[in-house]
Amino acid sequence: MLAVACTVQAAPAAPAQPAVAEWCRKLTPRLPTVSEATCQASRLAPTGSRSVQGVPILARRVAAAGKPGRDGPLRVLLVGGIHGDELTASAVVFQWMQWLQQPPAPQFQWNIVPVLNPDGMLAAKPQRMNANGVELNRNFPTPNWDKEAPRYWSRVTGSDPRRFPGKTPLSEPESRWLNEEIMRFKPHVIVSVHAPFGVLDFDGPAKAPNRFGRLLFNRVGVYPGSLGNYGGVHKNVPVVTIELANAQAMPTQEEARRIWLDMLAWIERNIRPQAALQKAQSGLPEAPALALAGRN
Ligand SMILES: [Zn+2]
Repeated sequence: MLAVACTVQAAPAAPAQPAVAEWCRKLTPRLPTVSEATCQASRLAPTGSRSVQGVPILARRVAAAGKPGRDGPLRVLLVGGIHGDELTASAVVFQWMQWLQQPPAPQFQWNIVPVLNPDGMLAAKPQRMNANGVELNRNFPTPNWDKEAPRYWSRVTGSDPRRFPGKTPLSEPESRWLNEEIMRFKPHVIVSVHAPFGVLDFDGPAKAPNRFGRLLFNRVGVYPGSLGNYGGVHKNVPVVTIELANAQAMPTQEEARRIWLDMLAWIERNIRPQAALQKAQSGLPEAPALALAGRN
């Protein structure tokens, strides 16, 4: 299966430094504790996709260190800032990226998107939705989306503009990009960071985490079009939702570190057996797409 890596186009071009520098100049004033210099040193690269307003969606892709075991490294997709007003949910991802070289993180293959919704974050007042007013976390193509998502929006939320799921699933470039990235990268686990509910939620196969740092498991709910519902329930990819306790004020560095380390330990303990089980059940070799990730 090694020969097929050539079919993959997902690897970013060499980092376009001016684009990244411009991105950092614009975005970091919104991000608590993240300096422009830290942002520029984070080795983010353009993915080739852009938000509605044309802001590049940046990602950092990191191959696993050392020799992969028989089953290859676990692939972790880490997404911050799907909601533009949850500033800490992006800032903490920048903090975690600084610890990627410290065990046990290097054993995993990473795909990290600190800000999925840059337009929401850059709005005059940071907002949950993207520039089209769409709540991206309701825009994923769960079954019966056409009926359920609009009905949920009107009946349960009272047509709350902050919960508008869009007119069709994947109508937005940001959700479309993430969906394509899930298909290309084939993550073993997706970690989606939010705020301010101060809990953990989990969807999909594998054992739910009990706690990361002070955050305890507590189901937030399953919604038509949400990433957890789509990934965890319908694509069979475990999705952990981390809800930090405050959307503007960062957790202490000690707490951020505890959340990070507890998360890595949970992934190692629960996702590896799950991945091996799925592989055995499918009888298929590992997806080839993953040969693509360069170490950057
Ligand atoms: Zn959120």
